[in-house]
Amino acid sequence: MSKKVGIDLGTTFCAVAIYNESTKQPEIVKNRFGNKITPSVIQICDDGEIIIGDEAKDAFDEGDNGCITAFKRGMGENKPYAYVNGQGYTSEDLSAILLKELKEMAEETLNDTIDEAVITVPAYFFHKERQATLNAAKKAGIKVRMLINEPTAAALNYGIDHFRENAIILVYDLGGGTFDVTLLQMGQNKEINCLKTMGNHILGGKDWDRALVSYIVSLIESETGEYLNDDFAFINSLSGKVEKIKKDLSKATQTKVKLHIPNYGLYETIISREIFEQITKSLLDQTVTLCESILLESHLQWHDITDILLVGGSTRMPQVSSYLQKISGHKPLTLMNPDEAVALGAAIQTTLPLPKYNTYTASTNETIQKGQVKPEEKLTTVASIRVNDVQAHALGIIAVNSEGTYYENQNIIPANQEIPVKRAKKFKYYTSPNKNNEVDIYLLQGTRPILECEILNKYVISGIRHMDEPTTIRIQYSYDMSGMVHVQARQEDDNIDLPIREEPIEEDLSRFGQPIPKQKIKQEPTTVLFVIDTSGSMAGERIKEAKLSIKDFIKKLSLHNVTYGLIAFSESVTQVVSFSNRPSKIIDKLPSFDSGLGGCGTDADPFPTIQSMFNGIRGKKYAIVLTDGEWYGNARKATSTSQLCKDKDIQIIAIGIGEADIEFLRKISSMPADALKIDVTQLRTSFGNIAQSIGGNTTTREDISYSEVETWKAVDE
Ligand code: AMP
Repeated sequence: MSKKVGIDLGTTFCAVAIYNESTKQPEIVKNRFGNKITPSVIQICDDGEIIIGDEAKDAFDEGDNGCITAFKRGMGENKPYAYVNGQGYTSEDLSAILLKELKEMAEETLNDTIDEAVITVPAYFFHKERQATLNAAKKAGIKVRMLINEPTAAALNYGIDHFRENAIILVYDLGGGTFDVTLLQMGQNKEINCLKTMGNHILGGKDWDRALVSYIVSLIESETGEYLNDDFAFINSLSGKVEKIKKDLSKATQTKVKLHIPNYGLYETIISREIFEQITKSLLDQTVTLCESILLESHLQWHDITDILLVGGSTRMPQVSSYLQKISGHKPLTLMNPDEAVALGAAIQTTLPLPKYNTYTASTNETIQKGQVKPEEKLTTVASIRVNDVQAHALGIIAVNSEGTYYENQNIIPANQEIPVKRAKKFKYYTSPNKNNEVDIYLLQGTRPILECEILNKYVISGIRHMDEPTTIRIQYSYDMSGMVHVQARQEDDNIDLPIREEPIEEDLSRFGQPIPKQKIKQEPTTVLFVIDTSGSMAGERIKEAKLSIKDFIKKLSLHNVTYGLIAFSESVTQVVSFSNRPSKIIDKLPSFDSGLGGCGTDADPFPTIQSMFNGIRGKKYAIVLTDGEWYGNARKATSTSQLCKDKDIQIIAIGIGEADIEFLRKISSMPADALKIDVTQLRTSFGNIAQSIGGNTTTREDISYSEVETWKAVDE
């Protein structure tokens, strides 16, 4: 029967563990040299042979140039991490080589095949690094059950034997290159809930090494007068040696250092733990500041913490434990071997059910709180413990602010959400009928302004259907159980995902930090109201031509951003279509729009209705009035009511056919030139001319989508 293992793929060491079902404990699977941990070192020999782990580490310690170490730091980078014999190796490739070796060694030890693994990653690993880890595993022939955050795995291992309901655990994880701090709470039913995680991915054991290098160099300079800062060869060799000095100082209170100084000879000195602690105090302070931030953000104080769990090789430095004890009043737990805890936790996770997207809804009289197990999921697993993890990074998207003046980072998934998690936001988008409607999405990490955030990826969403009105695109971000990000896009009302492709992020993104130019945002809306005489005399050709003219007019302005309305007047005034930027609303009404609507005579004055319809409408306002005769008793009144409309900046264009009187038309129109008396056969041409002149003053939909303005504003759910 094949086995599942947990793998800690560390920067300096790796470990493989398995869950022993008889002892109900996870245990380390030793490598072929009988060691519990395998150094993350790869040696590429001149003849092409590849040596991995313990032997490679020995070669590295002897100064072999073909050895590659700490390649986990370059995970997710699209360039070689190291060159040996002229060949470049990416961190992903190197991790694949290492993982394959770990798998083969574990299979030898277990005398069985390995079919699945849970692999640990730093909590601060983001999508690209996680993706690279998954790719490396695939290349190594390992099926990954899931990725788990290192501090979470450590807590899981700790929790299996030290579970105390409601205990709050702070996991302090100081590795070689990163520092993570995680707060967990033990819930009911043997559940560990990750509350928050934060980290500094450029703070780790390496910085303690660097501090030691600077100190030793300045000591040598002051004692020998030799200036060494520019001597790269010496600095390099010293950098390789300080890790050992640092480790010695974890065991002893002082250590002897012997160095060969160019132009000077042998130099000997004693370095005390006390001085080492002094020169690295600011680094330790940085870790404590982050611990205090996580407590502050969680409304907790040091005394609320039940236990501090130390994880990561650098927590072996005694200063970590003593300083934390001084600050917090708790003696940190060092009972676990920090090199093994993470792999052991991952081994436990191989036996647990895979976390699911939370779709469970509690019934009315049953509330499910964080930390409580859903009824149908009472634990039946071997390890009888489970962990709910969070993802450290908030995810946002670049969108236009509500005033349309700036671009801003709009949050979709806040930081520290329990994973897996899905969240969506909707955006307004103008389409065009004669181009590929595509929109660019920029995935942002964090909640800071756009240019201060890391832009993680650019996606292009295509296949957006053209709509007459602005359409709504729903963007969904999700973190899966391994902390991988997925992006989905849907057009409103569709249940099919729009195609998404990744594209390289442009070098120059400075436009996202600048105000959106005014002329781009100030496109005034245009509103056109058709005011059509539907008296009995309009019957036949006149009304038919009027309807065709309206249709042509709308078609001519189809690319423009125009809102339309339609009213009929005869013996009464009928509002047929209230204002809408969906022209199809008017087109749909035209077949049933006929003479006789509202009566047969022409008694009604449409201007009070025109005025009230335009009330509150901004931008350019046009009322196109078409009539074929006298307005009987209302003609006089109409000249004064039309004036009220003109006073409200409504441009009245009066078109007369049949028996209409040009003098009357001139009185009701905004300007004499806006009055027109024509033959019915010229109606479509005249409407076409008016459309053209209005179109010249109106932004097209295409202009709008190209200018990215008004489009990509969040719309309320
Ligand atoms: P990790 O990434 O958890 O494997 O931790 C690696 C880091 O732990 C490296 O910076 C090591 O130098 C450091 N480290 C390992 N053992 C010790 C030790 N005994 N004392 C001080 N630092 C150590």
